[in-house]
Amino acid sequence: MKKWVSLVGCSLLFLTWMLPVNAEEGTALTRKPLYQADVRIDPIKKEVAGTVTITFWPKDPTRAYLHLYPNVFTEEHQGMLWEELLGNGPTLGTYTNKKLLVDGIAVASKQTKDLNIFEVPLEGQTGPRTIVMEFEMTLPRNDGRMSYDDHSLWLGNWLPVLAVYDKEGWHLDPYEPVGDPFYSENADYEVNVTLPKEYQLASTAPDMAAKQVSTREGEKRIQLGAENVRDFALVVMDASYQRTETKVGETVVRTWWRKTDDPETAEQIHEAAAKSLAYFHHQLGAYPYTEYDVVRTGGAINGMEYPALVFLDGRHFFSGEETGIVTVVHETAHQWFYGLLGNNQVKEAWLDEGFTEYVTLSYLSQQDPLLGAERVRRRLGQGTSVQYYVAEEQRPWQALSAFPNNQSYSDLVYSRTSSMLWLLQGAWGEERVHDVLKQYVEKYRYQVVTGKEWGAFLSEMAGEDAGAFLDYWLKVDMSQQEQAAAWLERQRLKHQKK
Ligand SMILES: [Zn+2]
Repeated sequence: MKKWVSLVGCSLLFLTWMLPVNAEEGTALTRKPLYQADVRIDPIKKEVAGTVTITFWPKDPTRAYLHLYPNVFTEEHQGMLWEELLGNGPTLGTYTNKKLLVDGIAVASKQTKDLNIFEVPLEGQTGPRTIVMEFEMTLPRNDGRMSYDDHSLWLGNWLPVLAVYDKEGWHLDPYEPVGDPFYSENADYEVNVTLPKEYQLASTAPDMAAKQVSTREGEKRIQLGAENVRDFALVVMDASYQRTETKVGETVVRTWWRKTDDPETAEQIHEAAAKSLAYFHHQLGAYPYTEYDVVRTGGAINGMEYPALVFLDGRHFFSGEETGIVTVVHETAHQWFYGLLGNNQVKEAWLDEGFTEYVTLSYLSQQDPLLGAERVRRRLGQGTSVQYYVAEEQRPWQALSAFPNNQSYSDLVYSRTSSMLWLLQGAWGEERVHDVLKQYVEKYRYQVVTGKEWGAFLSEMAGEDAGAFLDYWLKVDMSQQEQAAAWLERQRLKHQKK
């Protein structure tokens, strides 16, 4: 639905009238949720307030769950991993759920035992349902994905998102301070943002195409729309920000950086973003959005992927820094593994991080052989020395909560999975691996994929069961070591160029 309706009352009427037509089409893609938000952002007071209307087709007729991630940052958390995520002296935010309506009727939401998950009761009616939520929040100050500094305010995982219900039932995982503790499905977004005139904005939507209207004195309202995305992030920036743009095919790649940043470093980052987007578009299948924003934020998140937009923290933009190149290429690759092809990042983080890191290695090896070789050597080193992890019973294929620290997460999820794919490339050749990945992305585009489905897909492409190979690498099952090596050798012989 393309029509823009900003008043909640009107949009409900409009939806009631429109939706039965869509409901009859009934496939997963036509039944994606629609999030319509109308928010006001105050960059001085660090406040965000507004209303979100979610229209969706429930798979469980009795209830829905919403992830309200900002609520996690209204309470203190202890421990090394939280300290690494939040940085020094974080301050708490506030989050108030002011009103909740289901199909126009007020209901009470229930916070579950986890801060980020709210239960919304649905009475057993079939067909599309509408949840309207009015919220108000003050941003926490920390090094994470949703915070602010003197020049910007970055909002990652800030809007309510429907929890996923699938064959396994509800996925209601607590927020973890390691990895990216998210799992969401493809949706459409229409987001109205009101903010002071002098501020700039970059979001998941095509921002330059967005309609802007003047509202109250000194304010503007920007009407943003994004289709087929699994989240909606945005960054509000003051006048200290500038942008560099390059057209890649049908997409404008735009890097937002500050006038106090090092121009050469910003240029390098921008160039790597544009070139790697072109490379992945060619290798992995079409990038479907008309904009791709790389935004310099504060905090210390390093890089964080969102659909059509990534955050890079400010340290990458200092003079002489080369870290930004590797990070921006990695975040760009996430546009495929996380963005187009979703997965449960809580239970199977290797599916997005490992594949992302593998294609990052491929890009770097081609574009900057020295840097690439160094990175491959490091990943293979970490990914293949696993005695310690065998003893600790740690593996890539486990939930975030099982990783005791960021080192084990990095060694196993990033390094071991990318090493596995790198060795497969050694056997199959790059062309074949990338062709297989392209088919894989195409098959699951805009959907979510499971590790099991990847296993079945790989077995099909290999022409024989890949179970031993995957168990050795992803479950660190040492009893499969020889079988895994033998499998790889057979694959080498089978696909050797004659
Ligand atoms: Zn990543």
